[in-house]
Amino acid sequence: MRCLFCGGETEKKGVAHTIDRDGYHLFMKQIPAYVCSQCGEKFFEEKEVDAIQNMIKKLEESLKVISKAA
Ligand SMILES: [Zn+2]
Repeated sequence: MRCLFCGGETEKKGVAHTIDRDGYHLFMKQIPAYVCSQCGEKFFEEKEVDAIQNMIKKLEESLKVISKAA
C-alpha cells in the first residue's frame, strides 16, 4: 500500500491512537496500521476503523448512562 498523501512506502505496524472528545480521552496503545515512512501518516484498514467506531458508539452510550446518574 502506498501513502495517499505523498505516495511514499507504507509499513504495517502497531501504532498508538488517541481520540479526544468532549467528556473523554481515549488512548489505544497498539492498533495495526500502515504507516508512511516519508510523512508518517497512519492508515487504518476498514475492519479496524469499524471496530474503533463500534467501540466509540458503545462508550458514548455508556457515558450517557453515567452522566444521567450523576
Ligand atoms: Zn506519506
